[in-house]
Amino acid sequence: MEFRRVIRDGIEYRFDPLTNEQCRINPRRAKRVKQVENPDKVGAESGIELDEIIRKSKEGCVFCPQLIEEKTPEFPPDISPDGRIKRGETIIFPNLNPFGENHAVGIITTEHFLPLDEFSERQLMDNLIASINYIRRVYENNRDARFPIYIWNYMPPSAGSIIHPHVQIMVEGEPLPQQRLLLDKSLEYFQQNGSNYWTDLIEAEKEPGGGLRSKPLSEANHKTKSLVNGVNRFILANNSLALIASFAPRGFNEIQFIFPEISSFMDLTDAHIVDFVQSLKTVLVGYKEMGIGSFNLVTYSGPMDESLDYYCFNMKLISRPFPRCVYTNDTGPMERLYDVRVIDTLPEQLAEKMRSITNRRLCTDILLARNLCQRFPKVTQRDGFAQKVVHL
Ligand SMILES: [Zn+2]
Repeated sequence: MEFRRVIRDGIEYRFDPLTNEQCRINPRRAKRVKQVENPDKVGAESGIELDEIIRKSKEGCVFCPQLIEEKTPEFPPDISPDGRIKRGETIIFPNLNPFGENHAVGIITTEHFLPLDEFSERQLMDNLIASINYIRRVYENNRDARFPIYIWNYMPPSAGSIIHPHVQIMVEGEPLPQQRLLLDKSLEYFQQNGSNYWTDLIEAEKEPGGGLRSKPLSEANHKTKSLVNGVNRFILANNSLALIASFAPRGFNEIQFIFPEISSFMDLTDAHIVDFVQSLKTVLVGYKEMGIGSFNLVTYSGPMDESLDYYCFNMKLISRPFPRCVYTNDTGPMERLYDVRVIDTLPEQLAEKMRSITNRRLCTDILLARNLCQRFPKVTQRDGFAQKVVHL
């Protein structure tokens, strides 16, 4: 496992340890002048703009309870005899404008808008479980639909066109290109090293210094001072889930959720879901504290009909620009046309921030509040952690 980086003129060129994809990190860019966003006014004015966007978009919103039954399509009976799949506040129905196979939309809450730190664990859990139920029904009808995808685009800067909180669920016959790359590279790593990249990554990131104890490669005539000083990117972990700030992020404030025990989204157990929802909630509280108002959450699942020893199911969360009428995009020609990510947040500082929030919020029983275990009778505890027992 190599955390490869090159420093030139104060910019860190980092390479993903699995895929070798490049990102360039320069935290000074976060402080650059953005003419449409006067930093002195960000707090008050952006709040007013946001309130206005939310108020206007609520009028005639087809995802609000008054219109959803009338305006959204229904599944055929072999997917859902009731037309839509419901659980708690979640309602899942077909996407009218799909960009994938078996593309559905899953409303998370009856509220038209929720600040990103106000989603309840119940809402997030119901949405995840209902999505898994939908995916299972698709697969039962079509055994070729093996690659599930779960995407949450929160607020328009993330490419979510409707404010009302919802997820996208797809079940594809082939992995998406990035999903395929991760699967192929993980197999290659397994064949070369005889071990699983993802569990190796967790172990490497747990070590003091998080792999940064190796000296960065540098070139003559260039500054070699590292932007970080041996700070860890590891946030927290138990047997079921690990959270890491990615070494070479594809997006700002990127956090990886790695499930070391499973390779597919469909293998999530009650315990995994409890762990994930609690940690996601914590991270979203952290995002809010950092002034973030938009994000993408995506899954990278292995095929649902196989248990792969070389791959672990994982997700990524990245922040997007704050929703306001006009804003500076975080994605430009380098990302869209050159396949290079330009990042202005340091993973090591993000991990530090998230660790402090995690410690404050969850104290000793970090991921797995006992009250949730009580609400899930099939979840027991082992060494203070929830233990997976059954499939959902
Ligand atoms: Zn709405």
